Amino acid sequence: MRKELPKQYDPSESEGRIYANWMEKGYFRADKREGSKGPYTISMPPPNITGQLHMGHAMYCVQDVLTRWRRMQGYDALWLPGTDHAAIATEVKIVEQMAKEGLTKADLGYDKFMERAWAWKEQYGSRIVEQLKLLGSSCDWSRERFTMDEGCSKAVKEVFVALYEKGLIYRGERIINWCCSCKTSLSDAEVEHNEHDAAFWHICYPYTDGSGVIEVATTRPETMLGDTAVAVHPDDPRYADKIGKEVLLPLTGRTIPVIADTYVAMDFGTGAVKITPAHDPNDFEVGLRHALPILNVMTEDGHMNADAGAAYEGMDRYDCRKQVVKDLEAGGYLIKIEPLKHSVGECYRCHTVAEPRVSTQWFVKMAPLAGPAIEAVKSGETKFVPERFEKTYFHWMENIRDWCISRQLWWGHRIPAYYCDACGETVVSRETQTVCPKCGGKMAQDPDSLDTWFSSALWPFSTLGWPERTGDLEYFYPTSTLCTAYDIIFFWVARMIFSGCEFMGKAPFSTVLITGLIRDELGRKLSKSLGNGADPVEIIQNYGADALRFTLLTGNSPGNDLRFYDEKAQNSRNFANKLWNAARFVLMNLGENEPAPHIPTELAPEDKWILSRFNATVRDVTDNLEKFELGLAAGKLYDFIWDEFCDWYIELAKPTLLALASLPAEKTRAVLVYVLSNTLKLLHPFMPFVTEEIWQALPHDGESIMISPWPEYSLALDFPAEEARMQVLMGAIKAVRNRRAEMNVPPSRRANLFIRSEYTLDRAFFLRLAGASEVHWIEDDYGEGDNAPCATAVQIICQGCKIWIPLGDLVDLEAERARLEKDLANVEKQLSGVQAKLNNESFVSKAPAAIIEGARENARALTEKRDALAESLNNLR
Ligand SMILES: [Zn+2]
Ligand SMILES: [Zn+2]
Repeated sequence: MRKELPKQYDPSESEGRIYANWMEKGYFRADKREGSKGPYTISMPPPNITGQLHMGHAMYCVQDVLTRWRRMQGYDALWLPGTDHAAIATEVKIVEQMAKEGLTKADLGYDKFMERAWAWKEQYGSRIVEQLKLLGSSCDWSRERFTMDEGCSKAVKEVFVALYEKGLIYRGERIINWCCSCKTSLSDAEVEHNEHDAAFWHICYPYTDGSGVIEVATTRPETMLGDTAVAVHPDDPRYADKIGKEVLLPLTGRTIPVIADTYVAMDFGTGAVKITPAHDPNDFEVGLRHALPILNVMTEDGHMNADAGAAYEGMDRYDCRKQVVKDLEAGGYLIKIEPLKHSVGECYRCHTVAEPRVSTQWFVKMAPLAGPAIEAVKSGETKFVPERFEKTYFHWMENIRDWCISRQLWWGHRIPAYYCDACGETVVSRETQTVCPKCGGKMAQDPDSLDTWFSSALWPFSTLGWPERTGDLEYFYPTSTLCTAYDIIFFWVARMIFSGCEFMGKAPFSTVLITGLIRDELGRKLSKSLGNGADPVEIIQNYGADALRFTLLTGNSPGNDLRFYDEKAQNSRNFANKLWNAARFVLMNLGENEPAPHIPTELAPEDKWILSRFNATVRDVTDNLEKFELGLAAGKLYDFIWDEFCDWYIELAKPTLLALASLPAEKTRAVLVYVLSNTLKLLHPFMPFVTEEIWQALPHDGESIMISPWPEYSLALDFPAEEARMQVLMGAIKAVRNRRAEMNVPPSRRANLFIRSEYTLDRAFFLRLAGASEVHWIEDDYGEGDNAPCATAVQIICQGCKIWIPLGDLVDLEAERARLEKDLANVEKQLSGVQAKLNNESFVSKAPAAIIEGARENARALTEKRDALAESLNNLR
């Protein structure tokens, strides 16, 4: 006995059960197998352990589609999953949790803090993984990794030490981006630029020799407290005699020099700029060139320190700004305030305005690493889909600055650098250093940790066992496809490419498939503050994972954003139900019969047609998947299943199936089962659960649809003549139905059809599907020959045939005549009214021209209408 399908499809009942079975059978496991087509690898972008499944993660179904499809094609398909320790985000959560207990990091100390962080990770870190399973993700969980697990940590240490030994990692005092709230440095990529309302404050600094003032302008007046020079362009004639003079820095009592540097733009503002080396990256460079003092006037949390002066010490940076402006104004130093809008850098995590801050950090020297990474994309070793994102990549790589990799955080990979308390010696090493090799003094490890992206940059090879030369690394590297959203091309994609080139000698993936962001119905980004966020877990509960996936895949095209709203998910659920009902119909008609194992010969035209359409769908869907056109593939499957298979083929097959024991019925059953079960295979990567559930109920070979072979295009199933013939038949039936609908003909009213066509069309279909009472094949146009049964007919012209339906068959002629007569009388009455007006001389001479023209137009329209009605009426007589 075959399994019966329940009347209603209930995803919440079946999805968990099916997934557990796949896991138990080990279908997700990828290994090198004899006779396979080779490896196909995707490294999953590791979601943060702090994360909860959002729509961006739900888009991982793209990776699942590709993996499932390649697996069915016979590749050793590995989708390697894992999670990211997310340094800043996780540390913020743990610090918040500690604050509730009145504890700080300092209270706990490094070791106890890390213990707590690991415990937090154990408790919450797997939530996102469990949610990814709800989506149906067919990852090889036996290979699941974590960016801070032993192997990944070893890889991080190895890379740091190797780059240091090559001179590509250095420690230095530089201007970096600082988040005053997260209290850590940020890389350039971690700073988001947004428009802010701001102002230019124009300030004057008096020359100490009494020869007047020099005017500078700034958007951050509080930083003037840290100025150590004013700079002008060396060729600027306005300042030729001022260079080398000193000015009094207002509010501070300090004097600073006027220096000349080509960095200054002569044509901008007054051509003089204040130089604050500790708080501006360009000023820092100028300061280095002129050996200016670096005066840091702020604390780590964005307050003013003692160097800002006693009047300002302890103030918040924005309070200080107000106070400085007030004091400048009081002292007569403020010339004017000019409002402007400009872009301000914010911390990408907490959106606090980032503060440029001079500090000692670790950096990766990027120029030597960028070269091979640019070449990898230029040479086509790695391709971006769509290609336009290569521009974004090149632009960033070609203008890249050194990467600040140290973070003032504890949660993360600790920097493997050790400093001697006694002589200051620095040792960078794979092994823990306690004794100074130079003086025998005590060594302490750098308290900072590495940027999270430093470890995720190694993800494609660290997860395969690097730095060990493992069999996995040998077989599955380089990976095949990286799927990621465009917002992390800089953070992640670029860094993986240069790391792969440097340490593996090969770029880490052959294709970067850029997925779009998900937006709401109105095209807005999904966000908590807009209240338009859609929760994928909720959508799975309401409509099933298949419906969520199909919604995200329909219309999906590389690099383009996608709109998501509830009705779309409902449509996808309806699609799953449609398929379910079609499957129940097939199973019901199959009864206890076994279908023929092969496609029978001597098939009916409609059988050949559906096989041929199925075959074309196999070809198109496979072709679309090869080109990453998942949205087009989903659309074709939807149309084929809904329209051609369910709405047409099943309807066409019904009369044959009614003769249960007949040979044609047996053939039709075989075709139904063949097309349905193979179509399920095509749909499986998109809707894995419902396809498995139905496939198990159908006669099938093998254990699971997910490991069944992907259908292949076959010339033997190509029936162009039958396709053309069925196209004409279906077009004709559709046209008759449409015309009947337009004329409000009730289904019970059947009509004679007179058809002229060069194709042989089966009359049974017209009787069943086009409301025909009888079908007459005719040689000449209707009404032209001697055998015309009546003169009045509705004529339909469609591709490949002409159809006439006697009007009397469709409508009640008596009633129609009465209606037309009434209409005609009405129109004639209106027309004579208008004409009477136009014949009235006083109207024609007095009324404005526009009114007269309007009346004439009306008369013309009414005349036309009258003639048409009269002709219709005449036809009926
Ligand atoms: Zn922050
Ligand atoms: Zn020492």
